[in-house]
Amino acid sequence: MTNTLWDVHVIEYARSKDQLVAGIIHGAHDGGVVDLPFSFVLARSAGKVVLIDTGFLREGSGAAFAEKFGIPHWISPLTMLAELGVEPDDVTDVVLSHAHFDHMGGLGAYPKAKIHLQKKEYLSWMEILALPPQFAVLSEIINPDDIRTAYDASLEHRLNLVDGDHDDYFPGLDLRLGEGHTLGQQFVILETERGRVVVAGDCIYGKRNICGHNNDGVYAPLANAAGSTWDQLKAIDNINKAIEGDLSRLIILHDSDRWPHLDLVKEIEGFGIFEV
Ligand SMILES: [Zn+2]
Repeated sequence: MTNTLWDVHVIEYARSKDQLVAGIIHGAHDGGVVDLPFSFVLARSAGKVVLIDTGFLREGSGAAFAEKFGIPHWISPLTMLAELGVEPDDVTDVVLSHAHFDHMGGLGAYPKAKIHLQKKEYLSWMEILALPPQFAVLSEIINPDDIRTAYDASLEHRLNLVDGDHDDYFPGLDLRLGEGHTLGQQFVILETERGRVVVAGDCIYGKRNICGHNNDGVYAPLANAAGSTWDQLKAIDNINKAIEGDLSRLIILHDSDRWPHLDLVKEIEGFGIFEV
């Protein structure tokens, strides 16, 4: 890895209400309910303005998904980016962890950006969406309009399909296939002043996944996955190795504790912007 350092912000933009923890983390029957935060990441280095995921916009079919999944609290990701001085046309690249609507739903707002998604993620959704209706549970978190947006970007040669692990995809930024939650999920490793930081995508939904239900270090799978338990645990282990067991270098996008290890730099309508 090169010694390019990234300036990284975690941007909260939505929150669910009274979501069952057992519906998120397998076996967390004692977890009660939580107002789960939703976030994405802005990473900047010389010449690059990169989003890791985009959140979702509450317009068109995106609004219907927010309703379906009970996400009453929301602020536009574009409003939050403007707070950091970033306009949509400034974004050079969008790295998507996976295609779920809450990670990819804002993609259409960045018509100039190159998009980077695992080939397996993109192609597996093509295949899953074509399955008969009895398989609908696999794609219930997928907004087909988001896949259409990626397809349209491919016609403009703005969609890069990443094939597995890639060191220095951009200087100081590594991509790692972390399948399980989805079939072509990826996580991102960024070189920062804090050391190598992992943006976990949805490979990890909460600390219990990596620390264990009893803080015993026995990995816990997610409660919602299209892929296998085995793949999920391997992805969690690869993340644990990348952060060398140091949880202060882990960014969980749905962190129910709201990133206590990061610095809150701004709060807008109750949504935080945190600096890594
Ligand atoms: Zn997801």
